[in-house]
Amino acid sequence: MDVLDLSVLIAILIALIAYTTKDKLWGGNNKSSNYDSSSGPKTTSNDLVEIMKNSNKRAVVFYGSQTGTAEDYSLKFSKEFQSKFNVPTMTADLADVSFENFQNINNEIPDFEIAAFFMATYGEGEPTDNAVEFFDYLANECDDLSGIKFVCFGLGNSTYEFYNAIGQKTVDELKEKGAILIGELGLGDDGTGTMDEDYLAWKETLFDTIKDTLKLKEQAVKYQPAIEVSEKLEMDKSDLTVSLGEPNKHYVNAKSDDELNFLKYGPFDHTHPYLAPVQNTKELFNSNSRHCIHAEFDLSNTNLKYSTGDHIAIWPSNSNEKVDKLLNILDLINKRDTVIDLKSLDSTLHLPFPTPTTYDTVLRHYLEISGPVSRQFIQSISQFCPNEETKVEVEKIAGHKENFHNSITTKYFDIADCLSYLSKNVKWNSVPFSFIIESIAKLQPRYYSISSASGMEKQTIHITAVVEQEKIKDPSDKFITGVTTNLLLNIKQKQNKDGDLKLIETYDLEGPRNMFHNKLPIHIRRSTFKLPSNPSTPIIMVGPGTGAAPFRGFIREKVKQVENGNKNVGEILFFYGCRKSDEDFLYKDEWTEYSKKLDSKFKMITAFSRETEKKVYVQDKLLENSSKVIELINKGAFFYVCGDAANMAKSVQKTLIQIFKDEKKVTEEIASNMVKQLRVNNRYQEDVW
Ligand code: FAD
Repeated sequence: MDVLDLSVLIAILIALIAYTTKDKLWGGNNKSSNYDSSSGPKTTSNDLVEIMKNSNKRAVVFYGSQTGTAEDYSLKFSKEFQSKFNVPTMTADLADVSFENFQNINNEIPDFEIAAFFMATYGEGEPTDNAVEFFDYLANECDDLSGIKFVCFGLGNSTYEFYNAIGQKTVDELKEKGAILIGELGLGDDGTGTMDEDYLAWKETLFDTIKDTLKLKEQAVKYQPAIEVSEKLEMDKSDLTVSLGEPNKHYVNAKSDDELNFLKYGPFDHTHPYLAPVQNTKELFNSNSRHCIHAEFDLSNTNLKYSTGDHIAIWPSNSNEKVDKLLNILDLINKRDTVIDLKSLDSTLHLPFPTPTTYDTVLRHYLEISGPVSRQFIQSISQFCPNEETKVEVEKIAGHKENFHNSITTKYFDIADCLSYLSKNVKWNSVPFSFIIESIAKLQPRYYSISSASGMEKQTIHITAVVEQEKIKDPSDKFITGVTTNLLLNIKQKQNKDGDLKLIETYDLEGPRNMFHNKLPIHIRRSTFKLPSNPSTPIIMVGPGTGAAPFRGFIREKVKQVENGNKNVGEILFFYGCRKSDEDFLYKDEWTEYSKKLDSKFKMITAFSRETEKKVYVQDKLLENSSKVIELINKGAFFYVCGDAANMAKSVQKTLIQIFKDEKKVTEEIASNMVKQLRVNNRYQEDVW
């Protein structure tokens, strides 16, 4: 064994020890628990009933969440339920508690009121990662839940086939075990952009039903802090124990060997991102007003691995402009660097980020301050209006769905814009900062389909991200912007020194203690979007716009197979579409190179929607090439779709059904079943968003 082997072995050993002890060291897989501080929960058992008994809780709100939305709604529901009915309530990640004694909950906690479930549907009707074990429990371990009362709100997207399947499954399976549903299953629809209003409508009726069924007394909802925020004027932000936005507490003042090893070997996951160097950023569009960034993340200094078709998650921070705007309207701009300490006032609540920290850090790194503001948020902040006039205005606008839509949503206001508008720029200086922390959703990572191939570049991940910038009509100088993609644009501008590029928003690219200098926190999510295991199986790929990203990875993987001497690589048919061949044709020069290497095996068919009088899309090209598509499918081809879920993916599926119908001369129903069968056999795969 040489020195290299030995060092690799040691690294693996360290990672293994770290992995097997991670739950003990870092508090399991709860997103929040890695930030748990000494002031957080002290419970040692994860038995739900024991936790509730020890903390005198009488209701529990569970969440099955993938991107944090269901978690956010569950927290809001929990707070409002507790405050409205004076019932001590806890919130729990479904994966963080044990259900062993759940069926005895009515005996163990005689005044137990209700369990609420906030369940997101993920992918093709699947439960979120943190809900998988709960469904195992229901299927295999749970006998009888008679008498347990529950409510359920599903979070789904009606553009997908299995709309809110998991909310429905939760209700069906709990009822089958004897649990009693109060009210109706709530259906939140992200596809129509009405999640917030769907939740408010469900909740308003449900609270009345709950009140009558459980005979609860209602009281005026008043904010009860679950976190105490105190200013530490004796501390300075330069103190090494103060967190300034490090990805997690291991990065704050890491000194010990264990801590330093963690920074290198992880294990890295959705609670412990890796700070990856970003290199070789470049612009892929040829346009003054639209941008698409190619960026490469270097994994060579870590043991992090990916495989072709996986997703990378990027943890963004908010822009300087958005942070300043919010600090300003909350009258915190002069205190932005004041050190604050957080203490949990509820034994079941984990602190959401490392403490001590600063006001600026919280808004910049931990809260989702940039997107559209919700009516629910404005309703709840109304108790802290700076004056009577504002209160009247808030009640007028936030109390009515239509008013809110017309005055706030259609103007694309974020939280700061909305507060400024409602108070006519008077500062909201009496909002407790704990309210801000508890009421605004946590900043979530954004996912990208990896556009490199692990066979070709093992230690580098490529992404292809279109920059979210949309100019609105009124006021005409305003843009709505995406957090992560504008951050990537800033990094690209800095790395390429393209000073001519006018940035709409700027970011603190150096990050906490200059730690981020050309780096971003990332983690990798394994995906099921994979090439066939047999390289000779033909593939058909449909990926317009950034939908081309994973297919670039697939094709590079195929090129590598050929370079490795594989003479039996199957046929590759790639449908790509964009607006114009000289404007947004992604990786335009690369495809001819791949074509040379793959020879006759590779065929690319393009659709440029704005070059002809009648717009032509990938699905039109698919139909034009029906016989080739069927020929390859008959030879066992796998069919892949990537990109826009709302329109493109649906149209492509419809077109494929049409192709089966025409080419195989069968009815629409049979054709549709044939496509379904392809899905069942994993030969129709989608990576859509
Ligand atoms: P966000 O901050 O998340 O904003 C989202 C949208 O809201 C933007 O369009 C923004 O302009 C708009 N917005 C902001 N403020 C307001 C307001 N006040 N009112 C109304 N609207 C507002 N994207 C790619 O480009 N390439 C990929 O390969 C890719 N792969 C993906 C794979 C998966 C599995 C998933 C789930 C998504 C993928 N995405 C991909 C999408 C990506 O994750 C991000 O959603 C996208 O880049 C936008 O992120 P952002 O942080 O820039 O925007």
